[in-house]
Amino acid sequence: MIGEEFNNSKIKIGELLVKNNLITQSQLQEALEIQKKTGKKIGEILIEENYISEYEFKNFLSLQKGYKQINLSKISNEIDVKASNLISKEYALKMKVFPFKFENEMLAVATLDPLNIYLNDELRMLTGYEVEPYISTNKDIEVAIRTYMSDEHSLKEVEEITKDLDFSIEDDLAEDIDLQKNPLIRLANQIILKAIMMRASDIHIEPQEKHCLVRFRIDGILQVIREVPKTVQRLLISRYKIMSGMDITETRLPQDGRSSFNYHNRFIDLRFASLPSVFGENISIRILNREESIFNLQNLGMPEREMDVYGKVIKQPYGSVIITGPTGSGKTSTLYASLTQISTPEKKIYTVEDPVEYKFPHIMQVQVNQKIGMSFAASLRAMMRSDPDIIMIGEIRDYETAKIAVEASITGHLVLTTLHTNDAPSSVARLFEMGIEPYMIASALRCVVAQRLLRRLCPACKKEADMSNIVISDEVFSILKDKKIYEKTGCSQCNNTGYLGRVGIFSVLLVTPRIRKMILDKSGTDAIENQARQDGMRTLLESAAEKVADGITSLEEMYRVVF
Ligand SMILES: [Zn+2]
Repeated sequence: MIGEEFNNSKIKIGELLVKNNLITQSQLQEALEIQKKTGKKIGEILIEENYISEYEFKNFLSLQKGYKQINLSKISNEIDVKASNLISKEYALKMKVFPFKFENEMLAVATLDPLNIYLNDELRMLTGYEVEPYISTNKDIEVAIRTYMSDEHSLKEVEEITKDLDFSIEDDLAEDIDLQKNPLIRLANQIILKAIMMRASDIHIEPQEKHCLVRFRIDGILQVIREVPKTVQRLLISRYKIMSGMDITETRLPQDGRSSFNYHNRFIDLRFASLPSVFGENISIRILNREESIFNLQNLGMPEREMDVYGKVIKQPYGSVIITGPTGSGKTSTLYASLTQISTPEKKIYTVEDPVEYKFPHIMQVQVNQKIGMSFAASLRAMMRSDPDIIMIGEIRDYETAKIAVEASITGHLVLTTLHTNDAPSSVARLFEMGIEPYMIASALRCVVAQRLLRRLCPACKKEADMSNIVISDEVFSILKDKKIYEKTGCSQCNNTGYLGRVGIFSVLLVTPRIRKMILDKSGTDAIENQARQDGMRTLLESAAEKVADGITSLEEMYRVVF
């Protein structure tokens, strides 16, 4: 494989190697002995006998003969896979060639045998480029082929997809991404950038039987962004696994990993999780904006009247505050906003969460880990020994946790937590059901906030609704009568959904002296609700109607979420 010319000058090469102190005279003699028996080329023998490394030998040859030589492992940044994938992987492996870049309109090819005219001709015909051969080592070429070349030309498909309009991005950062020569890395980054720009909270790569779906969760709703072919699916998933530090060879067990993305100097945390399915591994990526400014009760949509009540309660040094609602109703954001609002340097704030969704610089956050016995209750017991001022408990799921929370609030701590109930009054009943004594609840509980998230109408395309055929229900008639009511349309800014961003609606039940008395008497949910309404509590429906009256959301969205 070393080329005809070398065979003719074999003795000379051996002597030159000795002269240059790359091998000894006795090594050369031994090699010549072997050559007599085997007829192998002298270079091959010297390499096999470990008298010289393949790299040193090739380097020496190139210096002697004036060939360009290349160490592929040292130029990985310059490798242009567009060049590499001009030929098939099978051909590259068979012929031991690796095109690695374009150079003066020629194709630079790493080869073992720069003088093989037939091979160079063949490459020229296959690729349409004149070939500039570089001598390289067998190992380097093979590693490069396996690293940069893909089966079935799927990188070409990746290339096509990245050209597709769906992923084209009008952004300064997109230019950096376009500079990325590997179309696979480019596609992986484009998907993430696109998701950030569309304000998605999650990216899902979901293999199906015949293709693979890329879906974004935007404003709480999953949207199909596009389909990619199966060949691209495998590459894309591998890329994300590499990016997030997962084990790329493990495909049968779920894994998780993380990475980050700098978007216009905003650090975006990316949390990756893989989950094997029958059609291949699913990858989901959670996009977490590290900026805390978004955790602001006003920005979350809490109206002034509720802010007044709630803001006073969380400024108290002790007591329990419960945020309630189904999964995805924004409870965690409200807890974070509350902590942000009351956080001062002298206050010790601890959280127990599952999972920790955002990292705060000045808050001690503990991740629940059932596997090692760090349940909510166990974490809380450990935490109480460090004498915290404020405790945030991600969720109360059991008696044990509820009991610790209630005890902590009675003994001088402010406890913020969440429950899974439909409305504020039923949270009291839930605590009864969990086995907490009414007198404990009555002395601990300060207020319960029920909440939901409504999608905001896109300000660019919302239009006034024709109300002539619409009947407004009695409960909200007084809020909505004579108001301009808007409905969705859909435009390019809102991805044709008619909605852009979300807003919270809140129902705040303040534990007044009368309510406290009712809790002690173990009154029913309806009775507590009636009293709370007399004391000024607005329902979720009323809170939603107010957002409709303000033109922030639509009637349709109000009924979707609150009814
Ligand atoms: Zn719009």
